[in-house]
Amino acid sequence: MYNWGLAESQREYKRTGRRPRHSDLKRRLVGLKQGEAPWLYEVSAHIGQQALVDLERAFDRFFKGMKSEGPKSGFPRFKRKGERDSARLYEFRVYERHVQLPNIGRIRLKERTVKLQGRAVAATVRRRADRWFVSLTVEREREIVPVRRVVRPPDIVGVDLGLARAAVIHDGSAARIVEPRRALRQNLARLQRLDRQLARKQKGSRNREKAKLRRARLHYRVSCQRQDYLHKLSSSLAKTKSVIVLEDLHVRGIQRNRQLALSISDAGLGELRRQLSYKSEWYGSTLVIADRRFPSTQLCSGCGCLSERMKGMHGLKQRKYQCGACGQSFDRDVNAAINLRAYGLHELGIVPLPEDFREVKPVGEEGSGASTIGAKPSSLKQEASGSRRARPNTQKRAERLASAGFTSGI
Ligand SMILES: [Zn+2]
Repeated sequence: MYNWGLAESQREYKRTGRRPRHSDLKRRLVGLKQGEAPWLYEVSAHIGQQALVDLERAFDRFFKGMKSEGPKSGFPRFKRKGERDSARLYEFRVYERHVQLPNIGRIRLKERTVKLQGRAVAATVRRRADRWFVSLTVEREREIVPVRRVVRPPDIVGVDLGLARAAVIHDGSAARIVEPRRALRQNLARLQRLDRQLARKQKGSRNREKAKLRRARLHYRVSCQRQDYLHKLSSSLAKTKSVIVLEDLHVRGIQRNRQLALSISDAGLGELRRQLSYKSEWYGSTLVIADRRFPSTQLCSGCGCLSERMKGMHGLKQRKYQCGACGQSFDRDVNAAINLRAYGLHELGIVPLPEDFREVKPVGEEGSGASTIGAKPSSLKQEASGSRRARPNTQKRAERLASAGFTSGI
């Protein structure tokens, strides 16, 4: 019905140069049911109406993006069956172990609903691999949690996410390494094998469908395992730390290649950030996202100089950070976590200038990028909502980063 609405909108636009209004589409959908598509009565009326609401929102986002009133959004796309199948419902009943959905009936749930503690306002039915899920949106009141202050050095941590190690957390004196579950690593290898198998199967064949399902199931299992440890990690951080510093997702943009493992590590970073942004509000911690130009893996956490060797694809393979200037060597991920922590300290004005960064001298290309960065308005990718700490002078910060030989991009 989403697709029908989109097609109808495009037809009308070609004919008249205008898009039909939301209310017109709604009326036409009812007409469609009474006329040529009576089978639409078999599904809940809410699903069709909700699909049109979603379409309207998609158009809104697109036009707002065009007028640069909001983030850029693409033109609404047609949805394909089998890709992110989902439907939102507003007419349903919740029982202790069941939900009653229109036209489908009572469905037994795996979990109990008592832990929801609130009024369920919407249900989204979704399919992952060959399983069905219903998620309930619950309205409930929440008390406002005061922002936790930084009292001791370990209250602020830098977090570097990866795949070989799930996460490296540095609290100023020691690094804690969170190993991914072994099952996850094994499954990744299996996932790659299934991908190769699928590529060999003939298009449209039964065997291909079977292989597709096997892969979808494993994908689902891997994502559950990852989700599980990301939730544990984000909860423990948000509950015990005052400030959590993460790198920006797009710092890793260069890694976005066909390698499956890396795309999953990207997804994990985005997911951890999403979880932390709401959990930090729940528990009173502050989330700092490092500027996407902050070279967390290329800076030496010992002396603050920038290494050319850690750049680009070649740099991704380096497990050790060997500093050419001060001679110290660090584990690559630990080094990045320390740098992120120092970034957070500086960003929040807790430490005016981290000692490690005081004498920063570029190595390799000397002082390049200094003029470009200094001229650019510094975009602070900060999600530290609710934080009342003083922000440092951004111009000063830009200068400092420029003196570190900080070039845009990676
Ligand atoms: Zn060094």
